[in-house]
Amino acid sequence: MQNAGLVSLALNWRYLAFDVNPGNLRDAINGAKAMNFIGLNLTVPHKLLAVDMVDALDESALKWGAVNTIRFEGRDSTGAWQPMREFGEPSSEIRAHGFNTDADAIVQALQEDLGAQLAGARVLLLGAGGAGRTAALRLASEKVKELFLINRTPAKAEAIGREIQEHWPAIKVTLDYPTEPVDLVLNATSAGLREGDPLPFDLSRFSLERAASVYDMIYRPAETPLLKRAKAAGCRAANGLGMLLYQGAKALELWTGQKAPLQIMRSALERNVYGT
Ligand code: NAP
Repeated sequence: MQNAGLVSLALNWRYLAFDVNPGNLRDAINGAKAMNFIGLNLTVPHKLLAVDMVDALDESALKWGAVNTIRFEGRDSTGAWQPMREFGEPSSEIRAHGFNTDADAIVQALQEDLGAQLAGARVLLLGAGGAGRTAALRLASEKVKELFLINRTPAKAEAIGREIQEHWPAIKVTLDYPTEPVDLVLNATSAGLREGDPLPFDLSRFSLERAASVYDMIYRPAETPLLKRAKAAGCRAANGLGMLLYQGAKALELWTGQKAPLQIMRSALERNVYGT
């Protein structure tokens, strides 16, 4: 996805994947900085650790408490920090600037792939891991009306519920299944990733007939058992590929300062993920 984007923008850059032991993350970030990298993406479990390892935090990273994108920046002759793309020669002073592009990608995917209207919506959110927490807080910031939080380990959903009540007291948080119809069911669990996984919710407690739309953050397999049932129940349904695409596109824009070629990136992603 990123390399297809870079080619399309005629940039002689490469996007590479590195496996980094969490214990070496600080060295890895400093190493990339010393080698004049343009930037980095980070995934689990590095997103939380990196918050304390970058030199500056963008508001997005501060707000959502996680860094999934780093932009390296050098000091220009006026003393201002500029993205590395602005420098022909290696800059003598470089900082790592941390951003979060995940949270906005969730909202963008829900709006673009499902046509979701989040303000005033009633949402059943399944999962309270890293992605579930970010989704819950981001949905709250969109002023959803009511959030039903369900997680296999209830204490984690309770903690997120408390966090939402603290910052968005007007939002009703229920740590149980809805009894009335909901606008959206959002799966942020990993149940469905592997064949034979259980459904991410208790079928005896909630029927998908009562949901207008279902979004599954999982994108491989393309159709999880949840999405299959959602389609059979007549819900609008989408998988998590859009979320992956939009967080990557925003990162590319932060590094390049140019608009991401979304369609080219989406095609590359589909080719790589689904072989289509
Ligand atoms: P995580 O922090 O490990 O959280 C995993 C969540 O799944 C927890 O709520 C966990 O419940 C729940 N879970 C795991 N197995 C389960 C099962 N058999 N039944 C019910 N619940 C189960 O992972 P994460 O980073 O939040 O990611 C969650 C999902 O979102 C993954 O499928 C991941 O692939 C997807 N994701 C997609 C994107 C995207 O771009 N599309 C981005 C991020 C994440 P407990 O708390 O009880 O363990």
